[in-house]
Amino acid sequence: MLPFHLVYHEQYDLNLGHHVFPSQKFRLIHERLLAEDFAVPEDFVAPEPASDDDLMLVHERSWVERLKRGHLSYEEILQLEIPYSPEMVRAFWLAAGGTTLAARLALEQGVAYNVGGGFHHAFPDHGEGFCAINDIAVGIRKLQQEGQVTRAMVVDCDVHHGNGTAAIFADDPTVFTLSIHQYNNYPARKPRSSVDVHLGDGVGDQEYLDRLSAAYRFPIHGFHPELLVYVAGADPYAEDQLGGLSLTREGLKARDRLVIETALREGTAVAIVLAGGYALEVGDTVTIHSNTAKVAKEALEAVGWKM
Ligand SMILES: [Zn+2]
Repeated sequence: MLPFHLVYHEQYDLNLGHHVFPSQKFRLIHERLLAEDFAVPEDFVAPEPASDDDLMLVHERSWVERLKRGHLSYEEILQLEIPYSPEMVRAFWLAAGGTTLAARLALEQGVAYNVGGGFHHAFPDHGEGFCAINDIAVGIRKLQQEGQVTRAMVVDCDVHHGNGTAAIFADDPTVFTLSIHQYNNYPARKPRSSVDVHLGDGVGDQEYLDRLSAAYRFPIHGFHPELLVYVAGADPYAEDQLGGLSLTREGLKARDRLVIETALREGTAVAIVLAGGYALEVGDTVTIHSNTAKVAKEALEAVGWKM
């Protein structure tokens, strides 16, 4: 068995049909990790959906209620950029429960990996860009409410700026947000994170790793969070349809190693969530996300974790 848990639910699929967001990727990653004998079925734990009260630690009641009842306006669905369905709503509740569970398990095991989540474009009162509920923020706020975590950090390496997460924690000194992203890309308006690394078009492995390292090492050491949520987007990949950076698969593995190992060396637990990934070949997206789990295992074995 793995030294940490993988969090997964078969209803993570957002039920999007033919869509640039390959929401079947959650199932495909689950299958891949089993098929490659990286994981056995007992390594996976299924989350409960987050409660409405948990979501309202982050979101406005009216947004939660309207999502549940299907009372979204035409403009709200356009902004969300995914079709409305009860399955989609349930998937977001499950993703928030999954990231909360991954955060809780990470505190015990050093690392945990949610085969889902990372919906960083969701704001308290609306959704955007395939994201209705900000599972990252819900997980952090829930563990803070339970007294398990005082300070948390979000390292968002999706190719798109983590606008919802940045806005949610803008006035919260207990949560440090770092976003490294392609500047000339969605979202047009980028609320300030604690640290934003704006990358030019076409940036490759070396510049990416240098700039991430420079932006990350000081806050992880100085702020010293108990929990880090790593938003491990697969879309900085060179072959991504919605991204304009030029990272290789090896570069993405080096990124994962940098984020996870550095945190573990500081004694910071790492909860990993997936976020985006729109490679021309969905198999590439599955490979990149699966590699993150493999790097996490290597990092945990190299650094160790003591409670
Ligand atoms: Zn993205």
